[in-house]
Amino acid sequence: MARAFNFSAGPAMLPEAVMRRAESEFLDWQNTGMSVMEMSHRSKEYMAVAHQMEADLREVMAIPDNYKVLFVHGGASLQFAAIPMNLAEQNDTVDYINTGVWSTKAIKEASRFAKVNVVAGGDEENPTEIPAISDWKFSADAKYIHICSNETITGLEFQEEQLEVVFAQGKPVIADMSSNIMCREIDVSKYAMIYAGAQKNIGPAGLAIVIVREDLLGNARSDTPTLMNWDVYANNESMFNTPATYAWYLAGLVFDWIKTTGGVKHIAEVNKRKAAKLYDYIDASGFYSNSIKLEQRSVMNVTFSLKDSDLDAAFLEQSKAAGLLSLKGHKAFGGMRASIYNAMPEEGVDALIGFMQKFATENA
Ligand code: PMP
Repeated sequence: MARAFNFSAGPAMLPEAVMRRAESEFLDWQNTGMSVMEMSHRSKEYMAVAHQMEADLREVMAIPDNYKVLFVHGGASLQFAAIPMNLAEQNDTVDYINTGVWSTKAIKEASRFAKVNVVAGGDEENPTEIPAISDWKFSADAKYIHICSNETITGLEFQEEQLEVVFAQGKPVIADMSSNIMCREIDVSKYAMIYAGAQKNIGPAGLAIVIVREDLLGNARSDTPTLMNWDVYANNESMFNTPATYAWYLAGLVFDWIKTTGGVKHIAEVNKRKAAKLYDYIDASGFYSNSIKLEQRSVMNVTFSLKDSDLDAAFLEQSKAAGLLSLKGHKAFGGMRASIYNAMPEEGVDALIGFMQKFATENA
């Protein structure tokens, strides 16, 4: 069977070239007679894999030298608690902008470890736009400002103009970039800390990435569990205990793939084209619609509904049969969602649009 186009929000499709390389190295990595999966994480061979992977990530994201890259356990979700534990005391105020389900989860967890001021949002579960900047209420003494730069469930993404207002507060800015990391070039130096679960734009599940400015390390509360303390990762090359070795390796292959196919700059152009053609088609179709504010539509997660939800089941069944997988939207938002991360080839988006056209004609 040929590989399908998988529109899952995560774990998500990985580049075919990466999967083929992993396959070719699966049983015997570079004449070691072992799979990477079978190597000691402390071995010379594995350390070479780990160092190369970090160097490649630093290169593709242009991460400045005064930032540490940590490879952590527990997904992005464990960072929801780790962030306040590493940066705030129980009575400190921390600012959060609420733009949807993932922000809400981050807020809920942080509220257990600090005083959360919700700068804006939170009135609706699934907002379709980011609250107006004029309504944002930052606190004077916040230890940091947290945003979810792309809400995966609705496909709602911060715009540059709003990010600039966040940066202008002069506070450490923390961003959950789980679903849009490396989708375009960013200036890492504007952020104090960036984090992301791997299973969308980085590699397989089981790994999360923390990029943190060095001066923020060393402040974890004394009751911070060892494996949630960023310092511990920073001082042990993220190997205080056994890391998710195979996930690291595969992520390394993805970084190498990005590097050798033109870098994030090139991927960003492709991403922009993919998203634009899909949104353009949805808007023009008269059959499908997207409810997210125009300028804030995600370039990675494209949500849409059919004009008649009675057709949803048929749409999902027929799209699957056509090799277009996992288009069902998140249950919290309903409808459909096409996640078109870096690894989704442009032909995948073309095939989806072709299918949507055909389905619309047949069910007009
Ligand atoms: N933040 C965002 C924006 C996400 O999309 C997700 C996962 N879908 C998470 C956090 C949680 O990630 P994890 O499952 O790695 O904890």
